[in-house]
Amino acid sequence: MPEFDLIERIRTRAPGRDDVVLGIGDDAALLQVPAGLQLVVAMDTLNAGVHFPEHTAAADIGWKALAVNLSDLAAMGATPAWCTLSLSLPEADAAWVDAFLDGFLALADAHGVALVGGDTTRGPLSVCVTVHGFVAPGHALRRDGARVGDEVWVSGTLGDAAAALVQWQAAAATAPAAAVGVGPCDPALRLRLDRPTPRVAFGAALAEVAHACIDVSDGLLADLAHVARASSVGIEVEVDALPASDALCRGFDREARRALQAGGGDDYELAFTAPPADAARIESAAAACGVRIARIGRVVDGAGVRAVDANGGAWRSARAGWVHFS
Ligand code: ADP
Ligand code: MG
Repeated sequence: MPEFDLIERIRTRAPGRDDVVLGIGDDAALLQVPAGLQLVVAMDTLNAGVHFPEHTAAADIGWKALAVNLSDLAAMGATPAWCTLSLSLPEADAAWVDAFLDGFLALADAHGVALVGGDTTRGPLSVCVTVHGFVAPGHALRRDGARVGDEVWVSGTLGDAAAALVQWQAAAATAPAAAVGVGPCDPALRLRLDRPTPRVAFGAALAEVAHACIDVSDGLLADLAHVARASSVGIEVEVDALPASDALCRGFDREARRALQAGGGDDYELAFTAPPADAARIESAAAACGVRIARIGRVVDGAGVRAVDANGGAWRSARAGWVHFS
């Protein structure tokens, strides 16, 4: 199938919005930014074998490609509006593109995001998405806003996606054929790896109250280290306060859990800081968004991130955050 037919397939299914003056079909899109708001832009690429296992279902790749980008906007406190999609495909496989769009557009529809353009090329399987959203001037949640005395919070549960990878890799090592499909993984964990939930509404609600925010993509401690550095503060995290799902507790002992929660990555939860006086506002914002939250530490004088156990002793993860090219 020629590239043009694939693009036409995408165009006929792409949702629009009133502020899209001109969408897919011309040399570029024309978009109307609402008066008085700032444009927030983020881009993330997913490469086969690096960001998802090679055999991942096309619909899951579609979902995740948009989810990781919406998570970046959520971490800025922005409300998403538009996206663009660059697809590099080994072959022009219409069935694969249809399935990819099933996942991608399900999430786009859920958040009212219009697909306004992109690029389609031949090459190794790779998906690059750009998302655009809005935030009121001065309200964006930046990494450099944490202040000494703030409490540190995180949404959802941690370590599930990394746990799914550990189970899948262990199964693949012992029985290579079993690596295909979801069999060797706990399905609840696998769902968190393949279909992360970007905390879009909660991120926008936090823009009114939190001091700093980051989404957990490389591992909690590694991501909080970015906040500590940008804000010129130290952060203390209680490993035993980190939220765990039932599925994680079922499959892993305490020390393995701690390592996955503190260092696993691919969680796409929001880690944020706020003054203790605003705890009640944060709790009610989370409740209104149907998001579970946990208080996991505090912002202190100093530098870097220190993880402590329930007895206050230093805890060291066997696994650091995920760093490309390392
Ligand atoms: P050009 O050669 O001018 O860049 P293209 O043939 O690459 O044009 O794209 C034609 C139109 O289709 C453009 O509006 C572009 O944004 C859109 N488009 C191409 N690929 C995609 C895609 N994967 N998803 C969404 N829109 C796409
Ligand atoms: Mg082009």
